[in-house]
Amino acid sequence: MAGKPPASDPVQDAPEVSAPQHSAVGLPALTHALRISQQQMGVRRTALTLLRVNQQDGFDCPGCAWPEPDKPHTAEFCENGAKAVAEEATLRRVTPDFFAAHSVADLADRSGYWLGQQGRLTHPMYLAEGADHYVPVSWERAFDLVGEELTALDSPDEAVFYTSGRTSNEAAFLYQLFAREFGTNNLPDCSNMCHESSGSALTETLGIGKGSVLLEDLYQADLIIVAGQNPGTNHPRMLTALEKAKAGGAKIISINPLPEAGLERFKNPQTPRGLAGGGTALTDLFLQVRLGGDQALFRALNRLILNTDGALDEDFIRAHTHGFEEFAQAARADDDGDETLAATGLTREEIGRAGEMVLASRRTIVCWAMGLTQHKHSVPTIREVVNFLLLRGNIGRPGAGVCPVRGHSNVQGDRTMGIFERPAPAFLDALEREFGFAPPREHGLDVVRAIRALRDGQAKVFFAMGGNFVSATPDTDVTEAAMRRARLTVHVSTKLNRSHVITGARALILPTLGRTERDVRRGPDGKSAEQFVTVEDSMGMVHASRGRLEPASSHLLSETAIVARLARRVLGERSRTPWEEFAQDYAAIRDRIAQVVPGFEDFNTKVARPGGFALPHAPRDSRSFPTATGKANFTAAPVEYPAVPEGRLLLQTLRSHDQYNTTIYGLSDRYRGIKNGRRVVLVHPDDARERGLADGAYADLVSEWTDGSERRAAGFRVVHYPTARGCAAAYYPETNVLIPLDHTADTSNTPAAKSVVIRLESARGD
Ligand code: SF4
Repeated sequence: MAGKPPASDPVQDAPEVSAPQHSAVGLPALTHALRISQQQMGVRRTALTLLRVNQQDGFDCPGCAWPEPDKPHTAEFCENGAKAVAEEATLRRVTPDFFAAHSVADLADRSGYWLGQQGRLTHPMYLAEGADHYVPVSWERAFDLVGEELTALDSPDEAVFYTSGRTSNEAAFLYQLFAREFGTNNLPDCSNMCHESSGSALTETLGIGKGSVLLEDLYQADLIIVAGQNPGTNHPRMLTALEKAKAGGAKIISINPLPEAGLERFKNPQTPRGLAGGGTALTDLFLQVRLGGDQALFRALNRLILNTDGALDEDFIRAHTHGFEEFAQAARADDDGDETLAATGLTREEIGRAGEMVLASRRTIVCWAMGLTQHKHSVPTIREVVNFLLLRGNIGRPGAGVCPVRGHSNVQGDRTMGIFERPAPAFLDALEREFGFAPPREHGLDVVRAIRALRDGQAKVFFAMGGNFVSATPDTDVTEAAMRRARLTVHVSTKLNRSHVITGARALILPTLGRTERDVRRGPDGKSAEQFVTVEDSMGMVHASRGRLEPASSHLLSETAIVARLARRVLGERSRTPWEEFAQDYAAIRDRIAQVVPGFEDFNTKVARPGGFALPHAPRDSRSFPTATGKANFTAAPVEYPAVPEGRLLLQTLRSHDQYNTTIYGLSDRYRGIKNGRRVVLVHPDDARERGLADGAYADLVSEWTDGSERRAAGFRVVHYPTARGCAAAYYPETNVLIPLDHTADTSNTPAAKSVVIRLESARGD
C-alpha cells in the first residue's frame, strides 16, 4: 500500500554525517529506488510503471536527458529515474480540500521537500487578488483570467513565457508559436541556467550548440574526460556507458573539485559483479581541480600538445579549422608559471600524467555539465575544451567529440523547437512562411533579465510551463519580491512547489498530465485517439514517449491542450493557426514542425521507427562547420579564473543525491555520507581548522561582492570534506540567496553558481 505524505515538515534540519562512499549504485540503489517507489505508488503500480520507463513502447524518464541504448534493458532506469517517476506516478493527491485546509501563507512556510511530497495536483486552482486560499476554477474561467490579463497589457513584451525542460516537443513548439503570435520573444527557459554557456561556445566554434557524440561513440573512445559533472547522481545510466567503454579499453580522466563516488567505482546492479562483487573502477586519473580552474587546465594541456612533436592533427587543422596560428601563438606565449598552475589547484606531475594519457589517445571525448557552465568565464572555458579537441582532430569521427550532458529530459528538444529568447532569423522566417504571421524580431528576455523586468515592473504577467522558477533561480529574496510584483503568475504543473506560493497579485495553478500518463484526445467527431509526444535527448536522438497510466485526475489537461486552448482564447479569430486541430491530433503538430525545424523532415514517419532518429549534426556527420568562418574556430583568449581574497573560500552550489534540480526526493546525500539534513557546507578540513571551525560546528555563509554588498545564508553544519583546498560546496536552492542576479557568465548570462566568494562566520556561538 502506498504511504501517506509526511504530515509535518521535518522540524529540525539535523544532518548526521559519516565518511563519503567510494562506489556508487549497487544493491543500495536498487533497494532505495524500490522503497521510495513503493512509498509513493504501492507495489503493483511500482512494477507496472518502472518496467515501462525508457522502453520503446513506453514513456521517457522525466529525469535527465541521458539517451537510451538501441536495445533497452528490461529495467532501463536508474535510482534517480525511479524517484522521478515515482514522484509523478504517486498515488498522493493535492485536491481542492488540501488548499481549503492550507492557506498560501501556511504553505509558504513549508519546505520544498514537504510541498513536493503532498502529491499530484488534481484541479485548476485560482488565487484571487487579496485572497489567502486557492479555490477551484473551471478551465474556461482560467483561460479567461489569463486572457484578460494578457490582452490588458500595453505591450506583449510585458509578458514572460518560461519553460522548464520537461515540456514535450509538441507542447514546446505550440508554446513558442503562441508567444510569438501574441507578439513576444520573452521565452526564457531552464537552459539559460544550465547549458547556455555550452550553447554559446559551441555555436561560435563548431556552428551548432549541441553535443557531437552518440552513445555508440562513447563505446569507441579510448579516452573519456568527465569534467565538472557528477554522473553518479545526475546522469546515473551514464555509468553503464562508462563501464562499457572501460571494457572496450578506454581510459577515464575525471576533473572535479569533489571526489565523487560515481566516478570512482560503479557497481552495476544489472551484473552479478555489480550486485555482489566489487563493481568496476572507472576513473584512471582524478584531477581535483580548483573551482573555475578548468580553462587553465585545458590551456596547460593544449600547450603541452602544441609543444609535442607530431601531436597535432595537421591535416584536420589545415582542412577544417580557422584561427590556429593565432591560438597557438597565444597559448605558447602564455605564462605556464606558478600562477596558472595555482589556478588549477593541481601539480605539474598531475597535469603531466594527464598529458601522457591525452597524447596516447586517438579518440577523445570530453563530457561536461554545470561544473564548467556556471562560472563567469564558462564560455571561454568551453571554447578552450573545443581548442583541445580540434588540435588532435577529435571532432567528426567515431569515438571523439564534445558531450555536454543535459540535465532535464527535453531541455535540448525545447530549444530545438524554438524556445529561445534569441531565435535565429532563419527560424522566424520559416515560422512566418508556415503560419502566415510576422513573428517579433527583437530579442526577448532570458531568465535573469526576466527577473529584472518583473522586479522593475516592466513585466506584469509570468507564465511557466512546468518547473519551479523561484527555487531554481538566483538571488532568492530579489526573485521572490519580483514575482510578488506581477499582476498574474500562472504555473502549468504536475506537483506542488514553492513557485505556487510565491505569487503575483493573482495566481493560477493549471494541473497537467505527466509523462507517465495516457493522453487520450476526443475529436470533434467524438472519436478518441491516444496521443504520444516526442523528446530529444542529450545526444540529439528524437524518440516517442507514450504514457501508460491512467491520469491522476479527470480534470487534467495535457500541456499541448492547455497551450492550444489558451492561444485560441487570447488570440481569438485573428489567428489562422489551427489550434483546435493541434489540441486533438499531435501528428498534425509534427507535420508543421517538419516544415519549420531543420532535421525534422518526414517527422511522423521517422519517429515511428523503434528508438526514433538522430538529428543531423554537420560537424559530426561531415566535418562541416556552419560557423561565421565556415570552419571550426580556434579561440585565442586569455586564461581566466576566479580571484579569491585572502581568508575567503570559493563556494559551488550543487545537488544532493536525493535531489533532481529543485525537486527534493529526500533529505540525504548517501554517497557524500550526509543523512537527514540539507543545511550543510562541505569544507576542506584544513580550511575549516584555519577558521576555527570543527566538524559539526555551525556557520553562516556570507557572500561578498565587489559593490560592497553581502548576502547571508544562516545556520549550516560544517562538514570536514575532502574537497579541493579553498573550495566549499553546499546545496541549492538553500544557497541561491547568496548569488546576486548580476553574478552571471559572460556572453551566456548563466548564473555563475559554481564560483561564489564567501566567508564562514561561526554561528550558534560555536
Ligand atoms: S539516467 Fe537520467 S534519464 Fe536515465 S533513468 Fe536515470 S534519471 Fe532517468
